[in-house]
Amino acid sequence: MRDRERLARLEPGGAPARPLPIDSPVLVELRAVARPCPLCGGALRLDGHAAARVDGVRLRVATVACTMCGTRREIYFRLVEPTVH
Ligand SMILES: [Zn+2]
Repeated sequence: MRDRERLARLEPGGAPARPLPIDSPVLVELRAVARPCPLCGGALRLDGHAAARVDGVRLRVATVACTMCGTRREIYFRLVEPTVH
């Protein structure tokens, strides 16, 4: 269980240093619950999300809770401006 938790934090979005890139804030809610709970495979429920600044980088932090084991976690996103050609 601890190993799974450790691995989950190493995945993209699992820590402020490894935010998931998104190009619209709307995607936060979709992406946050797109993956199952890394501990038990249960569905995640979005509790909320907020803007945050970590080390000068603007992030969106989604708080999710597992509907099966109840584990709460934070998923980090970084808003990427769409490239204009
Ligand atoms: Zn779970």
